[in-house]
Amino acid sequence: MQATFAENNVEPLRLAIQKSGRLKEGSSELIRECGIHFQNRGNNSLKVSASNFPLELLYLRDDDIPGCVADKAADIGIVGLNVVEEKQKQIRVVEKLGFAKCRLSIALPKASSRKSIEDLNGLHLATTYPNLLRKFLDENNVRGATIHEISGSVEIAPSIGLAEGICDLVSSGSTLIANRLKEVAVVLESEAVLIAHEDLSDEKVKILEKLLFRIRAVRNALDRKYILLNTRNEDIDKISEILPGLESPTIIPLREEGWSALHSVVYEDKFWEVIDKLKDAGAEGILVVSIDKLID
Ligand code: AMP
Repeated sequence: MQATFAENNVEPLRLAIQKSGRLKEGSSELIRECGIHFQNRGNNSLKVSASNFPLELLYLRDDDIPGCVADKAADIGIVGLNVVEEKQKQIRVVEKLGFAKCRLSIALPKASSRKSIEDLNGLHLATTYPNLLRKFLDENNVRGATIHEISGSVEIAPSIGLAEGICDLVSSGSTLIANRLKEVAVVLESEAVLIAHEDLSDEKVKILEKLLFRIRAVRNALDRKYILLNTRNEDIDKISEILPGLESPTIIPLREEGWSALHSVVYEDKFWEVIDKLKDAGAEGILVVSIDKLID
């Protein structure tokens, strides 16, 4: 029988994820989709070990994750790019993870006549992202603007007279609308990213590569759909050109003379566009299936 990593004394890779908040669900879901199982998180423990992969999870506040990775208390972490860029720690971004997408934006009261970056001179802005905001203001030659750092409820700052505008994360935009604010400039486009410190042992680099392989397979599958369709043989070339698959489509002859089935993969974001073109080109019996994992 093959020895497990525990029997081989492999030191597990330590992954820090958010304990509670916007990234928690997506981070846990991604690890689960990678087929990694954990013992029950009894007593709300802040540290758990995987039973089938050399990985240990640390549950932390997202603000603390870049520092913990930089200090090597954790080897890798999942955190928003907004936090990584704000904290400016010695870590590297290994992979963008495609969830928790949002933007860090400057917003002003809806009633204000100011509406662009050029109008920000001299304003007093509230934010939890002072470093990113300062850098943005400097890079855009905004003069005389001051920053009021607060740790939460940024969006109410203008209505209570604390600041004239804000710089905060925007996802759907409904918080801005609810607080009668309008977005005037995007400081940073953000999403969840995987970070690592620069000093991983060779053994841990190997574990990270295995984890990345699984993460990419999960993400590839989410981005794409498997498509099966029937077509007359004379339309195969025309239909193949429309299908932006992994390589060329698989073509299987049907029992009915002169007909074939085509199998391919389409990107989710091009999906409806491709389906419309396929129908126009003579495709019939189009079947679309979700992909569980996709290894390129
Ligand atoms: P929304 O109303 O969907 O635009 O979300 C805005 C509110 O959610 C603000 O209070 C933001 O600080 C917070 N928020 C939005 N996206 C994120 C994110 N990816 N990470 C953390 N907080 C977020």
